[in-house]
Amino acid sequence: MHTRRQFLKAASVAPWIVTTARVFGQEARGEKPLRIEDVKIIATSPRPGYSWVFIKVITNEPGLFGLGSANYRYLSWAVKAALEKHMIPFWKGKEVDRIEDLWQWNHQRSYWRNGPLTNVIQAALDTALWDIKGKRAGMPVYELLGGKARDAVPLYAHASGRNKEQCVESVQSWMDQGYRHIRVQMGGYGGGGFIPPGQGSRPKAGYSGRAFDEELYVRTIPELFLHIRDQLGWEVKLLHDVHEHLTPANALQLAKRLEPAKMFFVEDILAPEQIDYFKRLKTQTATPLAMGELFTHPHEWRPLIAQRLIDFIRCRVGMIGGITHARKIASLCEQFGVRTAWQEGGENDPINQLAAYHVDMAISSFGIQEDNHYPDVVHEMMPGAARIDEGYLYGSGKPGLGIDLDEKIALRHPLTTDHRVSDWTTVRGMDGSLVKP
Ligand code: MG
Repeated sequence: MHTRRQFLKAASVAPWIVTTARVFGQEARGEKPLRIEDVKIIATSPRPGYSWVFIKVITNEPGLFGLGSANYRYLSWAVKAALEKHMIPFWKGKEVDRIEDLWQWNHQRSYWRNGPLTNVIQAALDTALWDIKGKRAGMPVYELLGGKARDAVPLYAHASGRNKEQCVESVQSWMDQGYRHIRVQMGGYGGGGFIPPGQGSRPKAGYSGRAFDEELYVRTIPELFLHIRDQLGWEVKLLHDVHEHLTPANALQLAKRLEPAKMFFVEDILAPEQIDYFKRLKTQTATPLAMGELFTHPHEWRPLIAQRLIDFIRCRVGMIGGITHARKIASLCEQFGVRTAWQEGGENDPINQLAAYHVDMAISSFGIQEDNHYPDVVHEMMPGAARIDEGYLYGSGKPGLGIDLDEKIALRHPLTTDHRVSDWTTVRGMDGSLVKP
């Protein structure tokens, strides 16, 4: 009786634990498994630049549901249509407990696989099923993945400025907020390598906008980081994102010239199409290399990890099929001494952030997690969203992912299409040709 009293006391503060524990008991007694009753799409843009497509997987146990994110900012309407017309009818009636089996089934469902669109849809269901499993067990998802391998998740912050002095100020302000890992960009991606509009040697009546120059970039960026070291010392761990702006020869030049600044890592120094060059880079530079933000296919990350050609893998958890696949990649990394640095990006969402968080908490191959802050409207809409304190990410500690979604608030911000995306992915050289991001 004493145990039952304690249980009921706990129940009064956490009703979903009662439901989940009761269902778990039924399951143990061999009663009918829980199934996917319905899947609701919640498409919302609570701020310009956010094009979020969430799903709510509703089970046949009243009140028990899981949340997942199919966030793909640049094809959000295609994701929504694929969910409505193809995937949700396929998912209905499936057993919620069979996460691995459903992952593999989804993987083959559309025949052609490993594309970003299929991956985010796969991730949405996967994350929602982990959420449900955690709620049924009355535990945060990381407990189901093996339990805490760390107490919180360290993040790297994003410092920026128009010149060296502003960058130093920005790094200092993040250090003052407790961050130890700080990425620095001077004037955005490719910044430090831009020739101002109209200047330099231009084709007649041709392109006159700002132009990227590789050699200028390779000269400027090492100077920036040596200046930061000179001003702020060696305690802070420095990162930089090349954002695939360099050809292989200049990538090697940059990596070597950054060696004296002792970087934590340099990210996306090559385009994903040029990963074979990592062999050359790795044998010639001591600068740690991070890669994989644009990866969606195992053939992209597997050789780099298994041949120890990178130091950090940078995939986005939502873009590789969710918690299930991220955990497998983390295990592969552990075998080869590579560490994780899951990608975030400003347009990512709190559900994907928590998917990364729960994996981060439970793995030994963890390296660092990218920072992402959300405005108040998002925290109001999504109670339980992860919180940041002095450079560390903390989940709510509630069962499952630990997050909820207020659909009424989401409805007040219907999904919009952001057409500005081409502005920052389109960079041109002096002759007007596209610099491949
Ligand atoms: Mg990046």
